[in-house]
This record gives sequence, C-alpha cells and structure tokens, in this order.
Amino acid sequence: MTQPDAAEHTSLEGFQYRAGGLMLLFLAAVSGGLGILGTAQRIGLIPGMLGHTPETSHRIASACLAVCLGTLTLRWIHERNRSQWPIRVLTLFLTAVIIPAVPSDNFRLGTPQSIWVPVLIAFALTNLRWSLLTTAAVLLTTALVHHKNGAFGTPASLFVTAVMIVAIVAPRLVYDRTFEAERKLAQAAKHLAFHDALTGLPNRRLLDDRLEEALKKSRREAGILAVVFVDIDHFSQVNNSRGHAVGDRLITEVGAALRASVRETDTVARLGGDEFVILLGPLTDRSAVDRVLETIRASIKRDTDRGDHGVQLTTSLGVALFPDDGSTAEDLLRHADQALYQAKVAGRDQACFFNAAQQAESAHRIALGQGLRGALDRGEFHVVYQPIVDLKTGRIQKAEALLRWTHPTEGSISPAVFIPIAENNGTISEIGDWVFHTSALQVKAWREVHDPKFQVSVNRSPVQFRDVSGVRASWVEQLERLGLPGDSIALELTEGVLLESNASTSEQLAALRSAGVSLSLDDFGTGYSSLSYLHEFEMDYVKIDRSFVQGLTEGSKQHVLCQSIVAMAHALSLAVVAEGVETEAQRALLAAMKCDFAQGYLLGRPMAAAQLDVLIRSTTAAAALATTPA
Ligand code: C2E
Ligand code: MG
Ligand code: MG
Repeated sequence: MTQPDAAEHTSLEGFQYRAGGLMLLFLAAVSGGLGILGTAQRIGLIPGMLGHTPETSHRIASACLAVCLGTLTLRWIHERNRSQWPIRVLTLFLTAVIIPAVPSDNFRLGTPQSIWVPVLIAFALTNLRWSLLTTAAVLLTTALVHHKNGAFGTPASLFVTAVMIVAIVAPRLVYDRTFEAERKLAQAAKHLAFHDALTGLPNRRLLDDRLEEALKKSRREAGILAVVFVDIDHFSQVNNSRGHAVGDRLITEVGAALRASVRETDTVARLGGDEFVILLGPLTDRSAVDRVLETIRASIKRDTDRGDHGVQLTTSLGVALFPDDGSTAEDLLRHADQALYQAKVAGRDQACFFNAAQQAESAHRIALGQGLRGALDRGEFHVVYQPIVDLKTGRIQKAEALLRWTHPTEGSISPAVFIPIAENNGTISEIGDWVFHTSALQVKAWREVHDPKFQVSVNRSPVQFRDVSGVRASWVEQLERLGLPGDSIALELTEGVLLESNASTSEQLAALRSAGVSLSLDDFGTGYSSLSYLHEFEMDYVKIDRSFVQGLTEGSKQHVLCQSIVAMAHALSLAVVAEGVETEAQRALLAAMKCDFAQGYLLGRPMAAAQLDVLIRSTTAAAALATTPA
C-alpha cells in the first residue's frame, strides 16, 4: 500500500487554489479600478459611476485591498502557527471592513447586500463546504425573493454584492487549500509512525498499543488472547536468490494473506523483515486458536502458490496465550518468540505453543553455548580414551577419543548435550581440531611404547566438513607435521555427513583416505543404515550402535540384526566394531558371530590416557600369557 503523498493534490484542490488566486487578483483589480475611478470622479474627470459616490468607490477599493493583503498576511502567519483560527479572525475582520464599505442605503434586509450576514457567519464558523452551501442557498433565496418583487437590485448593488462574495470566498479558498495540504501531511506522518511502509500493516508501536488494549479487554471479559509470532521459512534464501523485488512482493502477499485469515477485530502487525505478529482474541476457548493457526498456514501456502513468482512459502508459528503463558505484553511477546524458535528447531512449517519446560531448557542451552566460547582457552576440556578390543586376541588395539567438558559451575557435562550446541554455534570446528591434535599426539606416544599399529578414533561432526575456512591446517597436514602415518587415526563419521555430502565433503574424504586415514561409520543402524554409503564412501569400519548390543541375547531380534550387519560388512570387506558391550554374554555372542572389535564398559570405560596406558600394558601381558604355551 502506498502512503498518501501530502504534496500531491487533487484536481478539485488545484482548482480551489487557482480559483482563490484568481479571486484575489480580481479583488486587486477592483480595488485599483475603483480607486482610480473614484479619484477621477472626485476631480470631475468622469461623471458618477453606477450611482456610486467617489467615497463609496474608495471605500470598496480599500476593502478589496484590505482583503487581498489580509489573506496574504494570514497565509503567511498560518505557515508559522498552523491553526484554523486565522481564517476565522480574517472573516471577522472582513465583516468589520466590508460593513462600512457597503453603501448604507443599499444595506437593508432583503437587499442583495444583506446576504453577507449568514454567509459571513458560515465562513467564520464552518468549513468550506458548508460555507459555499450557505452562500448558494442565500443567493438563491435572495434571487427568488427579488425576482418575485420585480426588484432584483440595481446594477450597482449587484456589483457590490459580487465583490463582497468574492472578497469573502477568496481568502477561504486560498486558506483551505493550504490547510488541507498540511492536514494530509500530518495524517501521512501519523500513518507512517504507526504503520509499516511496505505492507501498510500496523508496526511495532501500534502493536504494543493494541496488545495493551486487548489485554485489558481479555481481563474484563475473562477471555483467551493469543499472541502469534509468524516467520516465513527460509525467506532469506528466497530474497537472495530471487531478488528483493520478489521478496517485497512476497512479504506483501503474506501480509495480505494473514490479514485475510483473521477477523477484522484481530491485529496483524509486521515487525520488520519476514516477521509478523498476530493478536487473536479475546477468544472463548483454545480450540479456536488451533483453527485460526491452521487457516493461517493453509492460506499462506495457497496465496503464495498462486502468485506468478513460482514460490510456495511455508511458515513457522510461535504462540503464547493469555493468561496461561504470561499476563503482560512483554512476557507474551517474549514467550511467543521463544515458541517460534522451538517451531524452527523442530523443523519449521509448523506451529508451536509456548512451553515453560522447553523455555527453561532453551535458556540453559543458550547459557551453555556462551560457556563454550572460550572454554578451550580456559582449559575446561580434556580428552578421555575408551579402549577398543580385538575380539580374537583380547588385546586393546584401538581407542576412541571422547571429549569431556568440565563446566566451571555445572561440573561435567555430557558431550551428547554440548556437542549439538557447539555444532549450532560453530565452536565445534575449533574444539574438534583441538581433540584431533590432542589425540594425534597421544597415538604417537602409544605407537612408540605399545604397538606401532595402534589407532585412535576421532569423531568428526558434519559441521566440521562444512566449515573449511582455510585458516586451520587440514588434518592430513597436521599428521604429516607430526610424522604420523594416516592409519594412526580413524575418523568416526555419522550418516549425517554422508547424507549431506557435496563435492567438498567427498573431496575432503578422498584426501583423508588417500593419506591412509581410516573411515568408520558410527552409530550404524540408528540412521538410514544405507548400504550404498558403505560402498560409495569406501568405509573401513562399521560401528554397530549401542542400542543393538544392549538387548543382545541368544536368539533375540538384536542377535539376528547384529549377525546380519557383521555378515554384510564382511561381504563388503569392512571390519565391525560393536559399541556398548557391557556383559560377558554380549562379548561372547559377538565373538561367536565373528565381530572384529568390541568397545564398552565391560572392556573399559572412557578414561584418562595414563589409565589406559596401564590397562593396555596389563591386557597385553595377559594376552601374551594366554598365548604362551604352558
Ligand atoms: P559415540 O561416538 O557413539 O561414542 C560412544 C558413546 O557411548 C560414548 O559416550 C561412550 O562413553 C558411550 N559408551 C561406550 N561404551 C558404553 C557402554 O558400554 N555403555 C554405555 N551406556 N555407554 C557406552 P559419550 O562419551 O557420552 O559421547 C557421546 C557422543 O558424543 C559420542 O557418541 C559422539 O557422538 C559425541 N562426541 C564425543 N566426543 C566427541 C568429539 O570429540 N567430537 C565430536 N564431534 N563428537 C564427540
Ligand atoms: Mg564415536
Ligand atoms: Mg557411536
């Protein structure tokens, strides 16, 4: 919606302004003409004119001049003080100037001159339209009366009447035009202050006002008020790929679709960007909110699909309800925003209601995210190693590096909690590099003292494959610098890495592989368990997820599943590591199905490097003892 342009005026207003100007010119001409004629008459150059004495001519001339000067002066004053009063004062002034100017013998009730009384009153006290209507009505009545009496008036009195009407109308026309332009300007400024320029919808200021009002009403009527935050999914992508003009059009369409999906009494506001807020209510029950939310989502899909820009938008909605989720405007807006965040986290294209437990959790996540920044510099991380045992020999040949974070106030926090946060805020790359570097140094030491083939597995998140900022040395380069062969490290990848893989991921994996680094598919069986990945990305190991090993008993479903995974992996020439082995029975079953390696609490919990050092020595000695012939 475009705003009214205050400077632009309609043709009627243009006409008014020009007519007013012409009338002033006419008055100036009359003033000059009568002045000269009156003077010529007085000195006897010409005879009496239209029955007027030279004094009458001079008085009318002065009155006209006064009107012209008065109008111009008052317009000038108005430009400085902006009120309606100057025109009223001017009209009274005209009364005072014109009454003495009118020849007293012509001024009687019923003569044409007498019309000035109601006309002046109308001009002084009403607006232009009423003033003109009064003038027309009075003129008509007077004309009818005089026509009936057969005495319409002398040419002189008609002339004086005409001059008087012009003298009264002209200032009003000029003045009203000026005043109107200003009124529009003020109106436009007011509209802009409370509305969004692109969509014409209320802005944040008006939303705040309306929310306060709606809250008062909901309290009075004991009704439910819903505050709904609306966000267009992936709008920035549309904006970037299609250009801002299409983006603006979509925003306008979404605004219109939102407006059309709610009642006239509900408010739809735009906060800026692709964020809208809707106030619904007061409503009698919560199911009404659900219905409106469905309508909103459906109408956005439908309306943006219809447009010629070939984009179908979806929306995420966050809802907070009064009185359940907050009693003040501020709380409701904040909670609706948090619910919107939950809707986005849950995968977008849906509505989420505010949930106090989720809110506490998300606040905690935010705090942890802040804590993660700088945690590396503060030395809050350490790496522990969990042994991976060769099921044939019982020897520890590998270990998995697992990160630990000791939070300054909360103590030890599980990586299952903080790794997703670090992935989300980007700190994972730096932290992951540190884990890799620490593990590489450790495996170097173990290769020297225990086993030249010892291998440490390091987990690498999908985010780390995406973030190749070029500042950090690649892991292959780091291994070269440490003089370590590639096979000293195995990378544990989740299926997410392979699922999202693009040219860059494939390139990075190829570089790691050609440097001899092993690739291990972690948590196998929990994701897509796609066999094509194992083949396509040339994995070396498959790690059977803990959830399969947990219920592993003779003849169980898990037993069949584990057997199938082992058989399939071997057929593809991959080695198998079983995670989460906690009992001797599980170990025995896995060994019987020819699973290659086992990892789990039975064989050793994640522990400090020094502890693992001791464990490796003792198991190596035990294994050696077991294989020594008696
Ligand atoms: P994961 O890579 O699958 O690691 C195995 C998890 O299973 C570890 O949990 C380990 O302590 C646990 N586990 C091992 N054996 C047993 C067992 O017998 N019983 C039970 N109940 N659990 C066992 P943790 O250390 O809490 O790590 C959780 C996840 O965090 C890891 O799962 C991995 O995905 C991630 N993670 C840990 N460190 C790093 C890291 O440095 N970088 C990245 N990107 N992710 C990491
Ligand atoms: Mg792992
Ligand atoms: Mg795992």
